[in-house]
Amino acid sequence: MEKLLEIQNLNVQFDIFGAHVQAVRGVDLELNIGETLAIVGESGSGKSVTSKAIMGLNPMPPGKVTGGKILYNGQDLAHASDKQMQKIRGKEISMIFQDPMTALNPTMKIGKQIMEGLIKHQNLNKHDARARAIELLSLVGIPNPDKRVEEYPHQFSGGMRQRVVIAIALACNPKILIADEPTTALDVTIQAQILDLMRDIQKKTGTAIILITHDLGVVANLANRVAVMYGGKIVETGTLDEIFYHSKHPYTWGLLSSMPRLHAKTDKLLAIPGTPPDLSDPPKGCPFAPRCPYAMKVCQDHMPDYTKVTDTQKTACWLLDSRAPKVEPPKTVVVGGN
Ligand code: SF4
Repeated sequence: MEKLLEIQNLNVQFDIFGAHVQAVRGVDLELNIGETLAIVGESGSGKSVTSKAIMGLNPMPPGKVTGGKILYNGQDLAHASDKQMQKIRGKEISMIFQDPMTALNPTMKIGKQIMEGLIKHQNLNKHDARARAIELLSLVGIPNPDKRVEEYPHQFSGGMRQRVVIAIALACNPKILIADEPTTALDVTIQAQILDLMRDIQKKTGTAIILITHDLGVVANLANRVAVMYGGKIVETGTLDEIFYHSKHPYTWGLLSSMPRLHAKTDKLLAIPGTPPDLSDPPKGCPFAPRCPYAMKVCQDHMPDYTKVTDTQKTACWLLDSRAPKVEPPKTVVVGGN
């Protein structure tokens, strides 16, 4: 597979009230042409910070990239100037956020909001930009696009607004679309429609997607590959099947176990006990150790290496060491089981 974006040893720090919060700690990640890579993890795991660093949105105070590279098209985005990033944002890499209402300007007609990027990045005149805006509204499934292009955000339902946000993000045919919890603010039936739309658009346009989510149901619907983040680090990566059916990391097992199941004998959701680590004083060993039922002495003191499991799967866990006891994933991990 051909690489489109490569993140090497990325570190992002936030300086808040005298504390140095190391939100992203040595992340390595690749995105291939045309794929959907999901980055999953709990709040505070570093997944949104990583995605925003790609867009150059973190280096504003109090956040800063303190190390590493984000390589795209021969350029290091982690050290690009604001001027360079302005050329890339929206044109090469676009982002859609969780809440479509805050992503749209309530005082501006949606047609005008779509046309802005087209006029700025594609040098289209007003007439052509309007025609393209109508085309984009049609692509994202808005009925009567030639009329609705003249309407304001409040005249659209939540799901329709998210379609408009996707149309804006796609306006300049970006190579990469970053979707940060794109369906979290929507109800379940609309969520499914938006996921269908994103899948459909990817087929039509070939845009690579980075999907940021805590929801493994969304991942199962959309992703080809998955990176699991915890405590500012990637703890496991693999194909969708490897993560869902052959995961080797106890944190991934915990996430899978906490997925709601249709045929479960109990209506209780399993949660991972404990809380994420304090990243203003990150642990020197495995960040999951205080919550891990399999933790050993070595886990507290030393960070495990990122070990190759297959050509496409890597896991950072001491259980993969030949001297570690053999441990089977809990039954609750089996997707579709109880
Ligand atoms: Fe658990 Fe140790 Fe593996 Fe961390 S390294 S996930 S503490 S077994």
